[in-house]
Amino acid sequence: MYKVIDKQALFRRLFLYFLPLGVIGYFLDIPFILLSVGALALLVWHYQQLYRLSDWLLNQRSFNPPEGKGAWEQVFEGIYQLQQRNRKKRNELAELIRRFREGAEAIPDAVVVLQKDLSIVWCNQLALKVLGLQWPTDHGQRLDNLIRDPKFVRYMLRQRFDEPLELETGLAHEKVLEIRVMPYAEQLMLVARDISRLKQLEQMRKDFVANVSHELRTPLTVMAGYLEMMDSDNMPPPAIWEKAHGTMMEQCKRMDSLVNQLLSLSRIEGARKQDNDKAVNVPAMLDLIHTEANSLNQDKGHELVFNIDRNIDVKGAPDELRSAFSNLVFNAIHYTKPGGKIEVNWQLVNDLPQFSVIDNGDGIAAEHIHRLTERFYRVDKARSRKTGGSGLGLAITKHVLSRHDSTLKIESKVGEGSKFWFAFPKTKGIFMTMD
Ligand code: ADP
Repeated sequence: MYKVIDKQALFRRLFLYFLPLGVIGYFLDIPFILLSVGALALLVWHYQQLYRLSDWLLNQRSFNPPEGKGAWEQVFEGIYQLQQRNRKKRNELAELIRRFREGAEAIPDAVVVLQKDLSIVWCNQLALKVLGLQWPTDHGQRLDNLIRDPKFVRYMLRQRFDEPLELETGLAHEKVLEIRVMPYAEQLMLVARDISRLKQLEQMRKDFVANVSHELRTPLTVMAGYLEMMDSDNMPPPAIWEKAHGTMMEQCKRMDSLVNQLLSLSRIEGARKQDNDKAVNVPAMLDLIHTEANSLNQDKGHELVFNIDRNIDVKGAPDELRSAFSNLVFNAIHYTKPGGKIEVNWQLVNDLPQFSVIDNGDGIAAEHIHRLTERFYRVDKARSRKTGGSGLGLAITKHVLSRHDSTLKIESKVGEGSKFWFAFPKTKGIFMTMD
């Protein structure tokens, strides 16, 4: 730490400078002239120092000050110290900004820092992508001039940011953005989050509840109709009663099967991955399915062919696999015209255990195929109802397979038939016993 200029030393130095001049001047009888010349010389010297200082400050690139003389030494040194302190502060500040920017870049949301008048101060990389901003071109531009959606402009101009804004935007490929604005230190921080997936899930949940209600209401309406008839004074003849009884039983079964399917769907969704490693005797399981298929096939009279390799077992959840396998077999029976041919295969294909069901039924048009595993999706609702189908079977199959590291594949041609199949991976707990 340098000391401030010592006043006493300064006076002493001045005194020692002017004293000899005064004494010599006194003896030569020109004291004022000599003192004035001395003062002038001192002034010139000081101007010289001042010039060196300003030259260093303005023109020189060197960080070190020129060597100062006399009282100027401390001035030069003082300025140098001040500069060093400023430089250190500037570096600290730059580091702070760098860390803030790095932090803002790490946030998985688009971040834009705005002035109060909505002009852009800074934005992260994600903001360029999500909000379609351009950097540095848009620096200083007003954000409400760049995003012209009236809802957004109104929200920003109202300057009340207690509630977030949901914005459906064509900018980010028809995404839904949640925009939050936080005022801080004379500026605003805008954070935009992509909530399309959340919205989609919310919509799926709503659709699901609506579908379940609808599915349950249909049989309930039928039963309520018959029950009302029973209550009236004009009792219908026994023949109608017989029919009513049959229909009510059928509707009860429908509801029962729907509730069972819903329960098994929620069980599969909530099941733990660890429960998936029991040894499952697939050939024995397919024998049982074969027996059930035969009884279901009585009215239809299809030719059922089961090609089962008895050497292949898998690891998995037995109940889940049973419903996945049987759904495909029973669907083939349901959706093939009487007298068709259904082939069920459990064999090694390309060294992997593969299950396939091939029918020569009506087939499915291409536009429906990718939607078949959606809950409650049916190509022909009326027809599917007749078979007691609720549109949940393939959704269950898809879920079961994904829990067993497999995927359902569907090939179909209208008028020719369909093939549903899936293969299990060799790894991930699946094993085979070869005799
Ligand atoms: P459902 O309970 O209605 O049978 P699924 O989820 O099992 O529901 O099947 C969804 C839809 O896929 C069915 O409604 C039917 O339209 C179609 N489908 C399934 N399997 C076949 C098949 N083998 N042949 C033709 N269409 C099929």
